[in-house]
Order: sequence, then C-alpha cells, then structure tokens
Amino acid sequence: MPFTAQHAEHGRLDATQPDLGCGVSWETIHRARAPLHCPACDGRMVARVSVLGLPHFAHRRRTPDCPLAGESAGHLLLKSDLAAAARAAGWDALLEAAAPHGAWWADVLALAPDGRRFALEAQLSPITEAGVRDRTQRYAADEVQVCWFDDRERPRPWMAAVPSLHLTESAGGPRAVRGVVARYTADDGWTAAEGIPLHDAVTWILEGRLVQHEERYVYGAGDSGDAYRGPFWTAPHYAAAAGAESARRQALRDAETARHQRERGRGRRGRRRTKYC
Ligand SMILES: [Zn+2]
Repeated sequence: MPFTAQHAEHGRLDATQPDLGCGVSWETIHRARAPLHCPACDGRMVARVSVLGLPHFAHRRRTPDCPLAGESAGHLLLKSDLAAAARAAGWDALLEAAAPHGAWWADVLALAPDGRRFALEAQLSPITEAGVRDRTQRYAADEVQVCWFDDRERPRPWMAAVPSLHLTESAGGPRAVRGVVARYTADDGWTAAEGIPLHDAVTWILEGRLVQHEERYVYGAGDSGDAYRGPFWTAPHYAAAAGAESARRQALRDAETARHQRERGRGRRGRRRTKYC
C-alpha cells in the first residue's frame, strides 16, 4: 500500500502531505477517480483510506512483483510516522523513493538542505541478516545513510547487524524509542535511555547528534526475556567520555603490570645476589 501514485496532470502524488505535494487536495483525487499509476510498476491504482485512517493508494490488481505491493497497515503507519519525523527535523521527506539505477527503494528518503540523503526504512516483514546487510551496502554505495526501524515487541536478530532503532508500537499517540540508545557516566557505565520520542531520535540521528557506537551492549526487551546485543546509538560526547575512561583504566592496568614486573625483577636480582655471595 504505497503513499505515492503518478497522476497524468499533477505528477507524483504524496498522500502524507496535506496538498499531496503538488497543490491538490486528497478529496479532489479521492472523489474524481482520476487515472492513477504505480510509480514502481506502472499498474493502475486507486485512492483509498486505510483501516487506521491513512489516505494512501492501492493497486487495482494483485502485483506480487511490485516493490510497493503487499505492505501491511502497520508498515504504512510506520512509514507515515518516519516521514513526519524527518519533516519535523527540517528535512524534506520523499516517500517510496527509488535509486535512479534501481538498486534500492527507500520507504522514506530524507533530504537535507545541504544535499545529504538518509533513508529511513520501516522493516516489519521478515528479513535475514544477510539481506539487510546487502540493502545497507547498496545505500552506502550511493552515499546514502540508512537507519532501519521495527516496532514489534521483540528486537529482531538482524537489528544488531545494521544501524537500527527499536520503537514502541503506535497506540494512536506519538511513538518512542524502545531500545538501543544509551548514555554513559563513569560511575554507572552505559545505561539504556528509555522513552525518547521518535521525533527527537530521528532529528538527532539526522543531525549526527546520535551516532552508532560499536561497543557491544545488552538491554532487556520487555517481558519477553529477549535481549539485544549489538552496536547502539549514543551522543558523541558519551562515546568520547567512555573512550577516555577506558583509556584511563587501561593506563592504570599498564602501570600496575609494569610495577609487578619491576618488583619481580628486583626479587630475582636479590635471589641471584644471595646465591653468588
Ligand atoms: Zn506497483
């Protein structure tokens, strides 16, 4: 169920925008039953409203090979929330944006005023770790950063393989981050930062105020008992503080090792002197 459709007169329509991105109202398109085509497969489409109340477009006929077909209502809602978050951060958001050479279709392609591109992927259907890594590399080859989002209760194993955020489900209100953002203090080490609103998290990721930290970290996920183990998001100053603390502790360990070696050396020299005197 895509948010975009091609209109003969108005061009590309984006149902997440009040004027559909081209100065026409949803009611006009919805009522007029104007010919609409899928931007991916060119199949005929109709304008609809989802069970969750979201205006969108749907293929008239089953098109199993179309990359925009077969999306669930939950996927549609997550895409809509990600687009809203990118726009709230001051970036443009293109829904269902394709690479010119066809290597990727981004659920939401966020565009910075300076030209940087960041794909926000709502990944609710099953995917293998190899599959998500491959898709991430295809974005990287085009200098597009990417973050993958999932709102099901249990964190999926592939989430540790790529930049990702585990979100709360939408219960009609704003979503929050469920996991994989952490803050650091020398006293407490890394602790999970719970409840960050999705809009804040997306803003901070797009602006580089949250970065991926490769140190492995574990957090519990609700009552399921599952845990996520993998890189996580943190602020650069927390990563720097953790790095400085780690270096300080290593220096203390090195000094202690050197002191032991000196003491052992003195002990051996002392024993040798005793033996030959
Ligand atoms: Zn299609």
